[in-house]
Formats: sequence, C-alpha cells, structure tokens
Amino acid sequence: MRSDNRVGSDNRKRLSWLLEFVYLSPEKVAELSATEQKQLRFDLAFFASRKPWELPPLEEIAIFASEIRSGIEQLRRTTRWVFKLPKDSIVERTIEPRPRRRAGRTTLAGFQSFYTSDDFRTSFLLCAADAVEAEGTRIRVCAQKDCGRVFARHRLAKYCSSRCSQKERDYRFRKRLTKTERSERRHRYYKKRMCCNFGGGSW
Ligand SMILES: [Zn+2]
Repeated sequence: MRSDNRVGSDNRKRLSWLLEFVYLSPEKVAELSATEQKQLRFDLAFFASRKPWELPPLEEIAIFASEIRSGIEQLRRTTRWVFKLPKDSIVERTIEPRPRRRAGRTTLAGFQSFYTSDDFRTSFLLCAADAVEAEGTRIRVCAQKDCGRVFARHRLAKYCSSRCSQKERDYRFRKRLTKTERSERRHRYYKKRMCCNFGGGSW
C-alpha cells in the first residue's frame, strides 16, 4: 500500500493518520522492523510534503509527536494550541485554484492554500494544524476505559480501534456472564434452603 493510501489526501483521513502518529515514542520506533521504519518515513514525508531523505531520524520525530499530542489535548479542553516556528526556517504558503469537474467540464470552485517549510518539523506542524483545523470536531477520547487515546471519529464510532471495541465487547460479555453466574448461585442457595425448610423432597 502506498503512502497516499495510508495517509490519505483529504483532511479527515489525514487527521486519523495524525492521531495514530502522535502516539509514536522513541521506544516504539526501536520496536519497528526496517520495512516498517521505511514505510513510516515515506508516510511522514507524504504528510508534511517533504522528501523521505530530508527527514531527521525517526527517534527525533517521535519526540515532537508528543508535542503535537499535548497540543491537541489542550484543544480538547477548549484552550488554544500555540506552537512557535524556528527562526531559521523558510515558510512557504502555496495558494492554488480548486477545480471542480462536472459533466466533463472543469470549472473553478475556489482557491485553497497550504503552508510548507524547508525544515521538516516546521512543515509537519503546519500540516498537522491544517488537518486539525479542518476536521478537529471529530476528535474524541476512546470510550474503552483502559485506553484513553484520542482518535478522529468516523460516523458514531466510540472506540479508537477495532481492538478497543472488541475489548469492550469481551468485557461486557464477561460482566453479563458473571451476572448470570451470580443469579444461578442464588437460585441454588434458594433451592437448598427450601429443602431444609420443607424437609427435602423432589428437588
Ligand atoms: Zn482505544
């Protein structure tokens, strides 16, 4: 699968990808295979509109993943997320026509713009801010009580992943089972007592 499929080109998909990325840590980077590391570098480059060979080491990138995460967590508490860009990086803003194709004709639907930078961290932060601005109302905290990850909600999803929704289903199943077990035990106790009271019988 290519980076444009994994990361996506619309902001909804990009935000989902970003919210997975923000949990990257230097420890997790060390656990990745060489292929996974290479794939991650391609995805990061695609997200930030840079070339894979322009990226700093993944361990360094993992450090600002947590910077973005705390920024996003601040936004959830209705406060602002402010980040400063380094003095020595060049920031470019590209404004381009947004075409609309309808019935075989291409017309101008409006304009769109985005920021990039020669510095990878700067470029990445600018792109992350764009995705959050466009689709940030989707950001939710996973309802699985041991998880707590933020994720981009699609439709009415309550959990960050299928792993978490499965975990919750298992938990509910166990809870229901113990409830049944409890009532069975109560029933057995009741039967025993009835036996004693009425001196046994056909129980
Ligand atoms: Zn979760």
